[in-house]
Order: sequence, then structure tokens, then C-alpha cells
Amino acid sequence: MLSFCVCASQTSAVFSFRDRIPNQYHLIYFHATVIATEADLIIRGCTILPMNGREIIEGGVIAIKNSTILYVGQETGAPFIRAEKVMDGHGKVAIPGLINCHTHLAMTLFRGIAEDQELDRWLTETIWPLEAKLGPEDVYDGALLGCLEMIKSGTTCFADMYFHEETVAKAVEVAGLRATLAPGIIEAGNKRLGEDLLERGIEMARKYQGYARGRVSIRLGPHSAYTCSPELLKEVREKASALHVGMHIHLAESTEMASLVKKEHDLSEVELLESIGFLKPDVLAAHSIHLSEGEMQILARRGVKVSYNPVANMKMAQGVARVKDLLASGITVGIGTDGPASNNSLDMFDSMKVGRSSPKSHLCRSHNLASPKRFKDGDNRRGKGFGSARKRWFTRDWKKSRRHFSRVQEAPSDTCAQYLRKHRLLRSRKRCRHSHRGWNRTNGKPRS
Ligand SMILES: [Zn+2]
Repeated sequence: MLSFCVCASQTSAVFSFRDRIPNQYHLIYFHATVIATEADLIIRGCTILPMNGREIIEGGVIAIKNSTILYVGQETGAPFIRAEKVMDGHGKVAIPGLINCHTHLAMTLFRGIAEDQELDRWLTETIWPLEAKLGPEDVYDGALLGCLEMIKSGTTCFADMYFHEETVAKAVEVAGLRATLAPGIIEAGNKRLGEDLLERGIEMARKYQGYARGRVSIRLGPHSAYTCSPELLKEVREKASALHVGMHIHLAESTEMASLVKKEHDLSEVELLESIGFLKPDVLAAHSIHLSEGEMQILARRGVKVSYNPVANMKMAQGVARVKDLLASGITVGIGTDGPASNNSLDMFDSMKVGRSSPKSHLCRSHNLASPKRFKDGDNRRGKGFGSARKRWFTRDWKKSRRHFSRVQEAPSDTCAQYLRKHRLLRSRKRCRHSHRGWNRTNGKPRS
């Protein structure tokens, strides 16, 4: 499945498609030129960011029939396709659907709750007691609300970890999205509880793997190394391997929780997981903020994928993940929102914006993520597109401004207007006698 999201300042609509977008656009085009085609919907005049290494398409056309994309490409030279519904895409951008790599969707019900509590109090005094009262119907309602919110902000696929995930699967089916669902497994000193939740997770993996015509896949979701014993984590690893499903876990989110693990086992969270053979390429580790160089090397060696959740980490005051170092270590990094209670939003554009800015602010270094790497989905690397497209724009603009800046420095005797005229950046023939400090941009005269 690939989905395209059409966004504009005033309107936004998301179209989800069950089938894969054809890679060979030219072949579709070739056949379509020979035979006129019927479509359900045509979007005309939009800007298309294909995110597959191809150039941005201005004035593009997208034709859809039965949830399948028939044609994506330039309007000029496009085949004749009839459609019942035609949408004007001028001023809008079509992008592949965004992927939220870590959330607890039904927590839409707890949005804005206990805003300024520390993470341990927030979990133990507010969230966990409330979650104990949630029934399957509550989780279904919260998940459906979350699906709607994600559709409105361009997300078409997400990785979730929560309880009553079978109801989340049903919400995903109704909403037409795609998801990897991890039934939560938590022990918190109660061995029986951990065993029961593991059993439920195994049952869900057997029943719901491939649910909703293949749009739902299952992982096991041990909450963390500080809420599950090493014995339970080892058992979850064995079951996941036997069932051929991945795992979704919180890792290195908080220094307080990390010190609990260190005190009890004399190992860091990563070292503990490594010692029991937990870490493999099928593990999606949310947060991964407080990691040493050695721990990053372990994650990279084991092929563990990381979900970077910048807004939630900021809201819960947990620190800033070293994304640049994670990427430099060779670790695949995607972006997530975390649950709406620890973010107050499921908007991936928020997370992308903060995700680029917060490491710069934290380190007081503007170049920290200045060459954005591809942000990849933990599962299938489809979440990479947005970063690579932005890279082209940013690199081009930055190089241009640097070139101009160095020219000004090389020729200090030039006035601003002389310099701008020389490089054909100022068309006015009015003279400017002074340097840029006194230059009036509108009339070319010195400022009084
Ligand atoms: Zn989380």
C-alpha cells in the first residue's frame, strides 16, 4: 500500500490506497496512451514529491481507480483518463503518506492530562491507574479518534503499542490505514500479569497478523527493561522469534529509569537486553536518548531500529536524542509522536519541525542536522522520503547564499547596489552611494 496525502493551507484530504503504487510510471503512461482509461478520481495541477529519487513534478496529475493509482506524472503529455470526480490540486502538494514510528493511539483520551508531572509520577500516579480502568470499547473509540487525527495530518501508517490492540486493529480496518500493532506487555513486579499479557500478545499475533487485507501486522510489545524482568524479556524474545514477529520496546528514555536498571542488574538497559540475546534487527526501540557510544555500537551491530520522538521527549523533559550520532553509527532512525498524552498531538509535521530544531538548540550548533539524513521507518524504510526531498532544497539554497556571501567579501569596495546589479539581482538603475547598511531596498537610495 502506498498513500498520497494532498495538503493545502485551508483544505487537506488524504487518500489511502490498498495496493502498491507502480514504480514504472512510464509503462503505465505508455499503455494509457494507447487505451483511454476510466478512473474514480483525478487530481489535477498539484505539485508531486515522488520521494523515490525522481524529480519533483510540477503541474502533476494523479489518477486513482479502486484504490489503485493508475497514473502519476506530468499533466503535459498525460494520457486521456476519464473520471467521475476531478479535484483541483493547484497550490497543493502530494506526498507519500507519513509514517508515525511510535505511538499509543488510544491515549487521545488522555490528551493534556497531568501536564507538568515528572515521568515516573506521570506513569505511576496518573497514566497507569487510568489505563487500568480502560475497557476495549474505550480503546476502540480513542484509537478511531487517533486514526482520524492522523489522516487529517497526512499519516497513513503507524507503529502502536497498547492494550486491547485487537480493537485498534478494528479501528485501523475502518479508517483504511496501515499499522504495526504491538500488544503491551508489562510486569512492574507482578509476574502473573506479565505472563498473562504475553499470552494475550501471542494470541493476537496468531489471530491478527495480516488482518484488514494485510494492512495490519503484529509485534510483541514489552514495555521496557525497567518494567519487565530479564526472564520475561527473554521469554518474549523466544516467542517473537518462534512466531516470526518483531518487537517494539521503550529504550533509554529516562535517566531515572536507567539508574533503576543499573542498580538492580549492574547493567545499562542496552547491556541487559544484549546479555539475554534480545537485540535483533526486528526490534524497534522508541526514544533511545541516553546512550553511550558503546551502546550505540551495540544497537548498530544488532540492526536495531530507533524511533526518534522529539516533541514527546521535550514535553516529558527527558532530553534530546543524539540523532546525528545514531545516524552516523549506521542506525536506521524514524520519527514518532509517542502517545497523544505525552505529546498532545499526532501531527508528524510538528515532530519533523521540532526534530530538526531541538538538537540544534540543545547543542547550540546550527549544523547539527543541517544535512538532513533520510528518516526511515523501522519496518520497511518507506519513511525516508521527506528528509531526502528537503535536503535537495536546503542544500541548493544554502550553497547559493554562501557563494554570494563570499563574493561580497572578496569585493569589499563594491556598494550593495553595485554588487547586486553585477550579479543581476537588482534591476533598478538607481545608484546607491553607500554600503548595505544605508541601502534602501525599495528605492535604491541611502536611508535617511
Ligand atoms: Zn511510548
